[in-house]
Amino acid sequence: MTSTTIRDNIKQVQATIAEACARVNRDPSTVTLVAVSKQHPADAIYTAIDAGLTHFGENRVGEAMEKIPEVNDHTSIKPVWHMIGHIQSRKTKNVLPIFDVVETVDRMKIARKLSELAIEHNITLPVLVEANVSGDEAKYGFELSGWQGNPSMKQQFFQQFGTMLELPNLDIRGLMTLAPYADDAETSRPVFADLRHLRDALCDHFTIELPDLSMGMSNDYPIAIEEGATIVRVGTAIFGAREY
Ligand SMILES: *Cc1c(COP(=O)(O)O)cnc(C)c1O
Repeated sequence: MTSTTIRDNIKQVQATIAEACARVNRDPSTVTLVAVSKQHPADAIYTAIDAGLTHFGENRVGEAMEKIPEVNDHTSIKPVWHMIGHIQSRKTKNVLPIFDVVETVDRMKIARKLSELAIEHNITLPVLVEANVSGDEAKYGFELSGWQGNPSMKQQFFQQFGTMLELPNLDIRGLMTLAPYADDAETSRPVFADLRHLRDALCDHFTIELPDLSMGMSNDYPIAIEEGATIVRVGTAIFGAREY
């Protein structure tokens, strides 16, 4: 993909975000665009930085360990790096030094490890808890499909969430989810609404604020914004198709 195309794509995505915000009376500044740069070279990221983007998402620790320091050394602004992929336990220690936000706290073990590492590094790490509200078996995240009609599932998760809130040096900012891929983006709407309801229920229960909802990808981010997303993770619509 040429840098001109990437620049045009970014303008297009930003316009689409503004239109979605207008439909539901939201201020576009309440939506953070995370450009998902996985599988794309550092040059593509430089183009996006030149176009004004500051948040980037990567999903593999190994790839990120090479790319993130390279990009950081090359640019005058320090991008905000979001970890958006499943973290294997033994790789957790490599996450802290390079990522600024971890969106994929998908089990208690990772929450505990990130807390321990954040203490060691003497930082407070912003994190999101990944909730699998759609019941898609291929996805990671706390199992929460049908939580509204399943009191024991809800109770177990709320208990775990309470434990995570107590872990030192983690700043739990909200929830993240992936909707199952579907040709019709409207299919994602109930999934996104469900995540928002879960967030609201947690806020009520613990009397806390959870400002962030990370939901929506290239195919469905306008709908995610209509349903309250504060973070959208957009890869293909900015950088083009990934080659594996
Ligand atoms: C790859 C990925 C995205 C971006 O997907 P696109 O369809 O390319 O926009 C968003 N979120 C997560 C967790 C991903 O792994």
